[in-house]
Amino acid sequence: MQPLLNVNGIEVIYNHVILVLKGVSLQVPEGGIVALLGGNGAGKTTTLRAVSNLLKGERGEVTKGTIEYRGERIQNLTPPDLVERGVVQVMEGRRCFAHLSIEENLMTGAYTRGASRAEIARDLDMVYTYFPRLKTRRTSQAAYTSGGEQQMCAIGRALMAKPRMVLLDEPSMGLAPQIVEEVFNIVQDLNAKEKVTFLLAEQNTNIALKYAHYGYILESGRVVMDGEAKALRENEDVKEFYLGVS
Ligand code: ATP
Repeated sequence: MQPLLNVNGIEVIYNHVILVLKGVSLQVPEGGIVALLGGNGAGKTTTLRAVSNLLKGERGEVTKGTIEYRGERIQNLTPPDLVERGVVQVMEGRRCFAHLSIEENLMTGAYTRGASRAEIARDLDMVYTYFPRLKTRRTSQAAYTSGGEQQMCAIGRALMAKPRMVLLDEPSMGLAPQIVEEVFNIVQDLNAKEKVTFLLAEQNTNIALKYAHYGYILESGRVVMDGEAKALRENEDVKEFYLGVS
């Protein structure tokens, strides 16, 4: 079966000279949770940005390879075109609008699809069923909420755009272990119940391989290993170099 996302041999260059991705290929099946793993600077964020066409702002470009979503070449589509097709990115560092309330932040996610008030109200309810914490904090200004709540708000905002696939960059970053579990549990729930497909970048291999179905390990812009999450968890090299057990 054709994967939902098919990245084939992409190279990415920043500032015309710095070759950062050196031929990355990966597939994300519809309904999957796929993890992109690897250390600092391995190329995870760059891969996500290539898919969501957010490299230009960073003076980066895809110079080789193809990116197909549902069989369509998407390299020349703008980020709003992609959102319209159901591809939504949640950036690293939880980009919430600090001066807006949680609920206002969530509502900004619905604007791109021109939803009616009734639809927005229904979708807000849906987001609040997955993130009850956000409901209790709905009128709080995002700047005064916790890191975990801001991460949830960023994911909730992506959901308001009715995504088919969410690109999630380092969801665990800066969060306490218990909150990380809470966030990943919700990701798992959204995947199971709302049929949202996830491609997530994570330095926290342990947590990512606990929840993902499949993983790709990047090193210096290349995929050095990939496999079912369970097989990766049991692989001796992965244990030694990425899981901190040997
Ligand atoms: P991190 O977890 O630190 O975000 P990462 O695996 O996501 O790591 P990237 O952010 O994709 O890695 O970075 C890959 C490489 O590209 C790094 O060497 C980084 O310094 C370089 N890089 C990233 N953004 C730019 C940019 N805008 N201009 C030049 N080089 C960049």
